Amino acid sequence: MKYLLGEMTWPQVKELARPGTVVMVPVGAIEQHGPHLPIDTDARCAEAVAHRSAEATGDVPVLVAPLQSYAISGHHMEFPGTMALSSQTFLSAIIELTMCLVHHGFKNIFWLNGHGGNFPCLSVAARDVRNQVKVCMAVASFWQIAGDQIKAIRESGVGGIAHACELETSLIMHLRPDLVRTEHIKKNIPKWRTPWFGMDLIYGRKVMLGHQVADFTRNGVFGDPTLSTPEKGKRFMDAITQAVADFLKDFSTWDLDTLYTYDE
Ligand SMILES: [Zn+2]
Repeated sequence: MKYLLGEMTWPQVKELARPGTVVMVPVGAIEQHGPHLPIDTDARCAEAVAHRSAEATGDVPVLVAPLQSYAISGHHMEFPGTMALSSQTFLSAIIELTMCLVHHGFKNIFWLNGHGGNFPCLSVAARDVRNQVKVCMAVASFWQIAGDQIKAIRESGVGGIAHACELETSLIMHLRPDLVRTEHIKKNIPKWRTPWFGMDLIYGRKVMLGHQVADFTRNGVFGDPTLSTPEKGKRFMDAITQAVADFLKDFSTWDLDTLYTYDE
């Protein structure tokens, strides 16, 4: 059951601060997405997944906080429109915002991520919050939670789903087709001369290499948006929504005192 924090009053929020309530904060990015997708693609996708999945949790109350749109995008700065926070600022913001929710009595806080570059800082934030207080702060990118489902739908091979790719282009074609400049869609899958590093949200990589995306893309795309369709976008979105809703229902029961049993 979806509640929108931004539209509620403080007494209503206070009423929801009880065991079993999940607070979900979508986090995206404001960065270039090639010549065919809008700058706010990651923010738009994260927010849509958050709202739709919160609607699909049945009786489980999910309080959706307003989107955190500015994030880790310094590696896209070669491309106009990108607006980035430093890692230090972003990390501090995530921890401070989470601690506000903790202060108000929430114990199950989930940051739903829509931009790969955010993930390392979100993970560090989750550890730092737990070092300070005993609450469940969880973080995940929606393509991690729905990885199996995305694999089953995708048609591209390794490298096809990364940035302004088969997945993101399909999702925006589904959500806001008027924002997709279809005449500018072009595939770009860099041919890596090493097996150790690559770009694919689902297949991952063995080694992380510090990079500027301009190092290996001229138009800002890596992936295969030529395979994208609105119908595929709906299939991706429905599968992602269901998977995230399943997670939220389970997460609402998480309590660090009972989440596991000891072997001995
Ligand atoms: Zn993106």
